[in-house]
Amino acid sequence: MVVKVQPLSMRFVQGGMSMTEQTYIEVPPKSGRALVVKRGDTVRVTDIEGCQVADFVCFNEHDHKEFLSSGKTRMNAWKVRISTGDVLFSNRNRSMFTITADTVGVHDLLFPPCNRWLYQHVLGAPGKTGCLENLSEALKTHGIEEDQVPDPFNLFMNTSVGPDNKLQIHLPESKAGDYIELKAEMDCLIGITSCAEDVSTECNGGRCTPIGVETRC
Ligand SMILES: [Zn+2]
Repeated sequence: MVVKVQPLSMRFVQGGMSMTEQTYIEVPPKSGRALVVKRGDTVRVTDIEGCQVADFVCFNEHDHKEFLSSGKTRMNAWKVRISTGDVLFSNRNRSMFTITADTVGVHDLLFPPCNRWLYQHVLGAPGKTGCLENLSEALKTHGIEEDQVPDPFNLFMNTSVGPDNKLQIHLPESKAGDYIELKAEMDCLIGITSCAEDVSTECNGGRCTPIGVETRC
């Protein structure tokens, strides 16, 4: 799959002392994309129409054996829901991204990406594929196989644990134009989806819409 990167704008500050470059990718509904960012870059992920989840995974660009760990991220934050000021940690307990802005504050660190097995055995939609397969497809040109895709940071996904200890999925609180910004703490390969879940009426409200991904350095 070819990643379509559309330059939004490119601004060079005269004198050559600083440069800002922006790129923009729109992730179509029910698909995934991959991109590489450098340490210090900021990634803004926008819920363009609202009520849409985006699964976000990352790898150390130079060593794919280091990747996002939702468990270590929860451990370091000592909470199950993270927002501005919190950090995404790797399986080696190193900082991968810091959340620098967040207009929603409701994201998920509990669920894996939706996947073929979930659709067949839990949601009653045999044959349907999801974010795991879409992340795998997007990342394979970077040498990542499906087994290597870690559990994501599920942007805009609204989950909780009920009094019976059961996991619950609710409608996202994100409205059109809401966004989260993540600053890269190392050079990273990113995989990101517009979540494909349209079987239930929660998660994405039963309707899948695109996600915007803007990077700037
Ligand atoms: Zn999904």
